[in-house]
Amino acid sequence: MKGISVLLVEDEPGICLTLGDRLAAEGYGVTVRNDGVSGEAAARAGGFDILLLDLNLPGRDGLSLCRNLRRDGFAAPILMLTARDGDADIVAGLREGADDYLPKPFDPSVLLARMEALLRRPRSLIWDGRDPVIRFGPFSLDRERGELLREGEPVELNAREYGLLEYLALRPGKVLPRRELLERVWGRGDGDRTRTVDMHVAKLRSRLGEAEKPRHIVTVHGRGYRFET
Ligand code: CA
Repeated sequence: MKGISVLLVEDEPGICLTLGDRLAAEGYGVTVRNDGVSGEAAARAGGFDILLLDLNLPGRDGLSLCRNLRRDGFAAPILMLTARDGDADIVAGLREGADDYLPKPFDPSVLLARMEALLRRPRSLIWDGRDPVIRFGPFSLDRERGELLREGEPVELNAREYGLLEYLALRPGKVLPRRELLERVWGRGDGDRTRTVDMHVAKLRSRLGEAEKPRHIVTVHGRGYRFET
């Protein structure tokens, strides 16, 4: 796929070499980092469409890297490369915000297919570290200033409402379960407080002026919420 930029964070030279060559041959732009610290720095510098992330890395492990990046709004898909028996890692990685995983050893063709599937997801609002403003309808969410504007006029939001809106807006088109929102926005592990999420969504909708007819924050019956641009 032309014009797609891949960041591969992996410390096994064999994988870096074969995968790097294969990706380049397929027309991807590839950047390789061999440890967690420089991998995180590269991801933060922005401009990548997808991150391929080994979990067992020198310097900083892949799970911490994933958590740090997601906490700070890194929105590109993350595909974890895990050990064969890494069930616990897989669960932890998905909780930290990875989108998919592939156990080693893997066939590069399978990896390419997984990558393409992730890249096909609607991601019209990928945060690439350059433009901090997310636009939807008459609204713009300025992530640098931490404020929401409606046609240039500030909309008053409390910190939780802002956090919820930002989390939703960074993941357009994706169904977000209440439990995930509770964990990621409220930082709570207990999934039995999902009423809290519903109450805040209702509040947020009325702030957006769409309490009656939700346009941007849509309820997906029995599953959660989805943000529409
Ligand atoms: Ca490794």
